[in-house]
Amino acid sequence: MIIDGQKIRTGREIEVINPATGAVFASAARADTAVLDAAVTAAQRAFPAWSALPLPERAALMHKLADSLQEHADEFARLIVMEQGKPLAEAREEAPTGIGLLRYMADHVDYAPVVLKSDGDKKIVEHRRPLGAVAAITPWNVPIGLLIIKLAPALFAGNTVVAKPAATTPLSTCLLGEIWNEILPPGVFNVICDDNDLGDALSSHPGIAKIGFTGSTATGMKVMASAAGTLKRLTLELGGNDPALVLDDVDPVETARRVFTAAMANAGQVCLAAKRIFVPANMYDAFCDELARLADATIVGDGLDPATTMGPIQNAAQYHKALGYLEDARASGTIIAGGVPVTGPGYFIRPTIVRDIPDSARLVREEQFCPVLPVLKYDDLDDAIKRANATEYGLGATVWGRDLARAFDVAMRIEAGTVWINEHMVFDPAVTARGAKFSGFGGELGPEGFNSYTQGYVVYQTSGN
Ligand code: NAD
Repeated sequence: MIIDGQKIRTGREIEVINPATGAVFASAARADTAVLDAAVTAAQRAFPAWSALPLPERAALMHKLADSLQEHADEFARLIVMEQGKPLAEAREEAPTGIGLLRYMADHVDYAPVVLKSDGDKKIVEHRRPLGAVAAITPWNVPIGLLIIKLAPALFAGNTVVAKPAATTPLSTCLLGEIWNEILPPGVFNVICDDNDLGDALSSHPGIAKIGFTGSTATGMKVMASAAGTLKRLTLELGGNDPALVLDDVDPVETARRVFTAAMANAGQVCLAAKRIFVPANMYDAFCDELARLADATIVGDGLDPATTMGPIQNAAQYHKALGYLEDARASGTIIAGGVPVTGPGYFIRPTIVRDIPDSARLVREEQFCPVLPVLKYDDLDDAIKRANATEYGLGATVWGRDLARAFDVAMRIEAGTVWINEHMVFDPAVTARGAKFSGFGGELGPEGFNSYTQGYVVYQTSGN
């Protein structure tokens, strides 16, 4: 762990398992509440000087942070594969996303005062101040990408940070702490690790002004409850059960290919993965057959093997959850590809395509977060939209159609924070991504995401004449 610029060991450790082997390959230091307090105190102590640095100086440091990520990109990618499991090519995408965001922040975002109204000598001006010491709590599926999306606006705006990674993927966050503490002043960026037991203490800590949280909806609700006593600012990026709506004018084979990637990247462990596929009856068989063919052609294995196109499930608990969904799929639908765990060590299951499954099945109602994909037939588009919206979640969605006007009309009727038409998971740093319904609130990226790490305050001024 890194606190106040120093590497910390506590004598207590968490074992880190490589999900491709099921074996422990490293350990990380583990915090207790005293260590957590020390991290918060360090962040608070560093805040006055860091927040007082002129913005151009912090911008220059953002570029240095990006440079260091770039220098260590390969080291990060390999470590992410070992602790998280995804194939190396996917792991290589995490650092560049962070680098792009840091450079975008430094070059394009300013927290300069905004004149809201000006009339003669009367002016209304909105100013922004950083909040103080903030916390970044992250999940295990994209350990570096989802961390930097919080760190970039938090640090650039002048906050100091205590980051807490998921218990099963602490190493890449610790590495980031180590590398960035060579650039940042002590206490500006602190990293603590837990065994999934310090989230409550961090969320309720009186020294923390805001929580940037990404994780499940159930945990997000706990964060909100823990944060209530100190009225913390919150950004909650939570779970999803994203529908993909395939319209009846597409080529089923080509679209199945694109939907397969949207569903199966990172072995389905993506918040915005396509998790329920609605396909019109006229192409249902052809679409299902192509998905099954792609599933059968997938090379499941250790992410460090260049031939691998799908890695393992990240941890034992999620693996057992996935086995439960396989059982549900067998009982309530027809499995046309996969359907079995891979024998041998590691938490592998083959990509699984399930057809003729009712909307009432657990696999359809819940967020599966694994490569078990239900494909749902529809006859009537209005009914399909209603079924797509019949979920407590509202994170993202995709619509696939040739007639763009009709696809747009469908997109406008889906209850989700982000809807993509004929593409998936394309992000622009200038555009806020946010969840609807039980998928959270607040947003990341874009003005809303950046400003969420600041307090806005408005000054009305006049000479009084
Ligand atoms: P999780 O909710 O179990 O854990 C997330 C983080 O919260 C971890 O660091 C964990 O240690 C911490 N935590 C646990 N208990 C806590 C508490 N009481 N208070 C505060 N923090 C606590 O999630 P996970 O299993 O690591 O990740 C998978 C989930 O994350 C899925 O639901 C997925 O959809 C969601 N997710 C959402 C997004 C998004 O942007 N919306 C992105 C990625 C993942």
